Amino acid sequence: MSTGRLIIDLDAVVANWRALDDMTTCRTAAVVKADGYGLGAANVVKALFKAGVRQFFVAVAEEAIAIREELGPKPDINVFSGHMKGDTDLIRELRLTPMLNSVEQLTQHLEVLPGHPFGVQLDTGMNRLGMEMQEWAAVAELALSQGPTLVMSHLACADEPDHPMNTYQLDNFRKMTDGIGAPRSLAATGGILLGPEYHFDLTRPGVGLYGGLPFAQAAPAVELDLPVIQIRDVAEGEVVGYGNSWQAERPSRIATVSGGYADGIFRFLSDRATLYHGNQPCKVIGRVSMDLLTVDVTDAGEAPTKLTLIGPQQSVDDLAAQAGTIGYEVLTQLGRRYSRKTFGK
Ligand SMILES: *Cc1c(COP(=O)(O)O)cnc(C)c1O
Repeated sequence: MSTGRLIIDLDAVVANWRALDDMTTCRTAAVVKADGYGLGAANVVKALFKAGVRQFFVAVAEEAIAIREELGPKPDINVFSGHMKGDTDLIRELRLTPMLNSVEQLTQHLEVLPGHPFGVQLDTGMNRLGMEMQEWAAVAELALSQGPTLVMSHLACADEPDHPMNTYQLDNFRKMTDGIGAPRSLAATGGILLGPEYHFDLTRPGVGLYGGLPFAQAAPAVELDLPVIQIRDVAEGEVVGYGNSWQAERPSRIATVSGGYADGIFRFLSDRATLYHGNQPCKVIGRVSMDLLTVDVTDAGEAPTKLTLIGPQQSVDDLAAQAGTIGYEVLTQLGRRYSRKTFGK
């Protein structure tokens, strides 16, 4: 087999959900947008449902199809993008709960699906999704008279505990929602870690379930090993790969490894990323190409048959740091071409 091997640990996902749930006294949902942050939403929701999770969040209505297919009618499926034109059939047939983001969405929802459950998303300063203070003031009475299942907002800087934006948004959220009676939610993974005043009635962790920062204690949920296809020795002065971007400064042993930017190994990692042969770090040398990496294994001892890109030696966030990005992006770009082995519940 010449594809990379991606090992997905659903027991770790469930353990992470439980750990985050244990940090609060309120209900804990699970965010499974972007195909469960790249791990496979159907498998992830099945494991979490077994563990007792009854409320899921997706970004767009289409993402709910796989979840309903897997779990049937029981769980609540909430949609962050709300009720867009064209979503009505899916929202009705799959019994989805849209988080309405604007007066327009609220009006449209009440008009085309009267009596159908909905939530409301408020903007408390991030300026991305949700009704602002004045809009909410204009429609709150109407919206609340229809019994929304949730009133929520989202924190922009929750991964930085000391950022003044956190208390600013918390204050705004309280101003907009204190006394309303409907269940409230403000915290994603970062918000859970900020402490009880951010928890309200429901938290919505995503990345922490999948082993990513800012949940530093998370159990890792993925491992990625890439097979070595070929090994060659190059003399001092020889060049490797596209654009001749690397030249050997000593006699070197180069492994050509299956995996490239088409698999979510960013081209920016050219001459940057580290892979591991056991505990021995081996640098990517030359360009990351579509399907292949070249790696300096001169110091790896015996010729490796595979190299680890994500594993105990190097977390998703370690790799993200080398690529100038965040764990979220590494996870959601994990290639579709890998041989995926999902184990656990
Ligand atoms: C993605 C998202 C979440 C989950 O955030 P994490 O940082 O992954 O825990 C929660 N709420 C909203 C509105 C989101 O867009």
